[in-house]
Amino acid sequence: MPEQIEKQTKQTEMERMLETWEPVIGLEVHVQLATRSKAFSPSACEFGAPANSLTDPVVLGMPGTLPVFNRAALELALKLGVATGSQIRARSRFARKHYFYPDQPKGYQISQYDEPLCEKGHVDLIVGGAIKRIKLERIHLEEDAGKNTHVGAVSHVDLNRAGVPLVEVVSAPEITSAEEAAEFMRALHRLVRWLEISEADMEKGQLRCDANVSIRLRGEDRLGTRTELKNINSFRFVQNAVENEILRQIRIVESGGRVTRETRLWDADLGQSAPMRSKEEANDYRYFPDPDLPPLVVDGALMGGILKKLPELPAARFERYQKQHGLAVDDARTLVSDRGLADYFDALVTAHPGDRSGRMLANWMLTELLGALNAEGKEITQSPVPAATLSALIVLVENGTISGKIGKEIFAETYQTGEAPLAIVDRRGVRQISDEAALWEVIDRVVAANPKQADGYLAGKDQLFGFFVGQVMKETQGRANPSMTSDLLRKRLGR
Ligand code: ADP
Ligand code: MG
Repeated sequence: MPEQIEKQTKQTEMERMLETWEPVIGLEVHVQLATRSKAFSPSACEFGAPANSLTDPVVLGMPGTLPVFNRAALELALKLGVATGSQIRARSRFARKHYFYPDQPKGYQISQYDEPLCEKGHVDLIVGGAIKRIKLERIHLEEDAGKNTHVGAVSHVDLNRAGVPLVEVVSAPEITSAEEAAEFMRALHRLVRWLEISEADMEKGQLRCDANVSIRLRGEDRLGTRTELKNINSFRFVQNAVENEILRQIRIVESGGRVTRETRLWDADLGQSAPMRSKEEANDYRYFPDPDLPPLVVDGALMGGILKKLPELPAARFERYQKQHGLAVDDARTLVSDRGLADYFDALVTAHPGDRSGRMLANWMLTELLGALNAEGKEITQSPVPAATLSALIVLVENGTISGKIGKEIFAETYQTGEAPLAIVDRRGVRQISDEAALWEVIDRVVAANPKQADGYLAGKDQLFGFFVGQVMKETQGRANPSMTSDLLRKRLGR
């Protein structure tokens, strides 16, 4: 079947199935915390260093070594806990999760089990124009494992990543579609970058997720048997993997079979998952409190410091931009997609006189400024035009000193040279002509020089109006005030 038709058929099949079946998804997302050194030892956390150059006796699991917890990781995890409205445990505990794997020389991973740092928080997704809140079961601290690479019959182990601090963010089973699962990842990605607790570069594995998927009949309260899809490392893969798994499960159940509880591995190249292992139960891991580490204590002073430094969050700004500044949903969403964009917009609003220009400011910023930055592959934080300068330019357009069209040219020059907008306007002599007498003189001349077109317009050829506007603009090098030009032209032409 040609790909297009296959996709179409799959789509229709899915729509029919979703009338009967409700997908339920819970995500477990791992986020690398941006500390300089590892969670329990002094080696550096760096991406791309030569294999096994970032290890130490603790990472290597040498007998007699003791882990010492890196407090910087706690502060970063707490920021996320507070930003997600979680309950923070005053005393939480590290536990050992045992499993043997070559990327884990100690034979266990230090994690948190029955006393996680955070519980019962939430993440706010932007779905369409509205906020949808997804509950979190927990956020806990743990260490990453190393990386195994298999080359033919040989396996290589690189322990650079072993011991890097992570938080695991566990959602409640409340996500109800593949798109929403991808949106959850995007929301979390945006949030951890916003809080500057992780760069969350998915290509470096700094944000990755396992997706738990089940289906149930619509109206049913009990959860169905779930499968777990492992190690998904892009927004698109989450969506594809979850969609594929929902379809697979419905087909099994509709043909009389049962879904087996298992862990599956998503193969992005093949676009399908395959069974990896039957699911371990918690007791397979023989969790117990790590006797080498004291309880993790969060006191008032620590919490006070975190609370004081917390920025206004993306979902709050998304709503404020619409309510307070009248922005369209899409513009508000774009602005909160990145902290730098939102901060620039806030600076623009602060610099700008009056408080009714929100849409105009967003428009100039998103169209002209971002257009110019994107063309050069630059970030908003590298903008050569400070917010105050962009505001000054917009003021010139708002008060009629220059037209919007000339404004764009002035913007391009300010962007290139850094010269102040008003200085460019004066040097170029491009102030808008808003003087009635001066405009009337030009219009009179243009109409007198084109008697045929004037007659044609009078006879009902409306499109000739544009011809006259064009002539006036040509005569004035684009400086004629457009709305005054229209008014005066109508008077002069007599219709
Ligand atoms: P485990 O410790 O085995 O990974 P948890 O009970 O901690 O299991 O749940 C892990 C994740 O699985 C959570 O995100 C949770 O929301 C999700 N989950 C649990 N049961 C289901 C289910 N029946 N369908 C979909 N997701 C589920
Ligand atoms: Mg799990």
